[in-house]
Order: sequence, then C-alpha cells, then structure tokens
Amino acid sequence: MDNDELICHCEGACGCCGSLNLEFGTIEIVDDSIYYPFTCLDCGADGKEWYDLKYSETRMNQ
Ligand SMILES: [Zn+2]
Repeated sequence: MDNDELICHCEGACGCCGSLNLEFGTIEIVDDSIYYPFTCLDCGADGKEWYDLKYSETRMNQ
C-alpha cells in the first residue's frame, strides 16, 4: 500500500479537513467491496469512501 495514502475512518467526512461538504460520484464495485469517489467542496481533496459488502439473503423470483 502507498505509505503516502491518507486513511481516515470517518464516514461521510473529508479525510483532509473533516468537512461534511462532499460531492459523491458513482458507486464502484471491486470484489467484495464498493466505494464512492468523492471530492471535498471545502478543501478540494478527493478520495474514495469504502464499504464492505456483506451477504444479506437470497430471494427467488416467483
Ligand atoms: Zn476537505
């Protein structure tokens, strides 16, 4: 992993300035995770907000 990469564990907040004023892009799926790319509207930094995908249930079409 890139050592220069800033990792923050605050959902919905910019990892640089902590602003909640983010503009989110289109969801992307990578293996068992998804992320939303975002740009901070306050400091201009961008990044990705990652989520783990967990199995929920299976529903059959009737
Ligand atoms: Zn910011």
